[in-house]
Amino acid sequence: MSVSVPLMDGVESRLDGAWVAAFEQAWTSHRLGSIAVGAVLTDSDGAVVAADRNRAGESEGPPGLLAGNRLAHAEVNVIARLGQAHPEGMSLLTTLQPCVLCAGACSYARVARVEYAGVDAAWDGVEQLHQASPVLVERAPAISWRDLGFWSVWAEAVPLSGVIRRYGLDGRVGRTYLAANAAMVDLATQIAGDEALPRLDLEAAVARWAERLARVAVTMPGESAP
Ligand SMILES: [Zn+2]
Repeated sequence: MSVSVPLMDGVESRLDGAWVAAFEQAWTSHRLGSIAVGAVLTDSDGAVVAADRNRAGESEGPPGLLAGNRLAHAEVNVIARLGQAHPEGMSLLTTLQPCVLCAGACSYARVARVEYAGVDAAWDGVEQLHQASPVLVERAPAISWRDLGFWSVWAEAVPLSGVIRRYGLDGRVGRTYLAANAAMVDLATQIAGDEALPRLDLEAAVARWAERLARVAVTMPGESAP
């Protein structure tokens, strides 16, 4: 499975494999009024074992998953999808850098590796918290950024648009985003005002914003560190 988006210079930006499922999940979240983050668990062959998403903006979700509250994050829900099964040794791909809740959930579930596509300036560096505990030193997954080029811009901008729409930019979190990447905040603010966007499928939505997305640089991990 793959998704291909024509960019302004004629270059196709292609997304393959398990990442397609993660980005489709994230897009479903945005369309339904949640924050646009999707996650998949993969086995050692890279096959998708489970996929889920942020459900914070929806009133209800499937049994056993979180929805309609601030804890309904993609990584928590994809782990919850396994029920009593143990994801030990699996990899988790998430479209956005894990927050403290999700980094903790991955440690608790013994996920071996986490890759994220887009940087979340508000939580950048949170993976270093595991050094405070000898148990977490042993249990915490290896968390790393996967530079997916154009798609990493999308992965960062769309959930940020949801955060801006829902919470605004006042306060410490908003200042953190602005300090890390003001151009990204400006783009996300424009996306937040695009009322027609949630009606489009993923490819059409990306194509609609492709030119502007291609002009914005991703936030690099570590740039937003205090
Ligand atoms: Zn989270």
